[in-house]
Amino acid sequence: MENSATATETTMQMFDVYHLFDIDITKASGSTLWDSKGKEYLDLYGGHAVISVGHSHPEYVQALTKQLQHISFYSNSIHIKQQEELAQKLGRLSGYNDYQLFLCNSGAEANENAFKLASFYTGKKKIIAFGKSFHGRTSLAVAATDNPQIVAPINQNEHITFLPLNDTSAFDYAFSDDVAGVIIEGIQGVAGVYAPTIAFLQHIEKACKAKNIPLILDEVQSGYGRTGKFFAHQRAGIKPDIITIAKGMGNGFPVAGVMIAPHIKAKKEMLGTTFGGNYLACVAAISVLDIIEKENLITNAQEQGKYLVSKLQDISKVKEIRGLGLMIGIELYEPCAEVRRRLLEEHHIFVGSSSNKNTIRILPSLAITEVQINQFIEAFKSVIT
Ligand code: PLP
Repeated sequence: MENSATATETTMQMFDVYHLFDIDITKASGSTLWDSKGKEYLDLYGGHAVISVGHSHPEYVQALTKQLQHISFYSNSIHIKQQEELAQKLGRLSGYNDYQLFLCNSGAEANENAFKLASFYTGKKKIIAFGKSFHGRTSLAVAATDNPQIVAPINQNEHITFLPLNDTSAFDYAFSDDVAGVIIEGIQGVAGVYAPTIAFLQHIEKACKAKNIPLILDEVQSGYGRTGKFFAHQRAGIKPDIITIAKGMGNGFPVAGVMIAPHIKAKKEMLGTTFGGNYLACVAAISVLDIIEKENLITNAQEQGKYLVSKLQDISKVKEIRGLGLMIGIELYEPCAEVRRRLLEEHHIFVGSSSNKNTIRILPSLAITEVQINQFIEAFKSVIT
């Protein structure tokens, strides 16, 4: 009796790890959100770069609804034909037809699997990562993330070497034969939108090829058309051995993947997951690719990104604009928290923060319009001047 009395008095609370805005979103369409009181918001952040084709895209909703009415889940013990359809579409649209696809559930999991593959392939244990990197919050992914605050003692190990980004001499000095793999973001996102130079990407690709050590491109945030190419690294004309993908892939449905070059061969049971590649995840990901293609969203990302940058360049209180396409960092001369708060409270516009306290991140849907960008620019000018 005592137990049931206690149970009615105590309610389970969320583990309080997130900084939360007190907003209750109940509906979304494209880049527009509505809260429970009907207040409208402009979404220029896409929930950390996840919303690629726009919230609640009708074709996406229809595809998922239809699949849900047939079958939502079975494990990877049977042949799921949607996985092959997804792989073929992804290969064609990304320019990686000859690669293999392993499906999983999150960016961190994709990177964990990439590290395992590199280590299986080389038989080595050492990973080279770069300063300010973010690769996820699980075991080795967080160890390869250059932020000691989120690395627990159990994640600290001797396998990761951090090197300064874009420093070829430091790279050459550290790049020994006992390296299992090199991981780099297509464009660093969480850090505050910092791009590796084309020369640096080409340099590390060449070095990795010469030693037959896998180059892992983390395109979890910068991939899927966000930068105006399918992958951010494609601006350098390089071909990594392993590419990890997640955020924009499912437009909010949790799905992620590892794209693997043909010379890295699969062995039964070397990787695996319960949920990865389930029917709903595949249908969500197929639908995203179909919409990206049909609506020319990669071109839109390029054009709207250029338009946004051209408008930002006219604003004197902007210190620096970084990024490509619709992955834009706006650095101010002072911390941006107050600007973000005012954009949200006074103009109902969501933008993102980054580890660089002065930098706002803009990561909207790839379908964002010029009218919506103008709305942001007017609001932004009024809060920073
Ligand atoms: N890699 C990069 C570049 C990211 O930006 C993130 C998330 O922000 C991750 C990996 C981790 O992805 P997830 O949160 O889906 O595990």
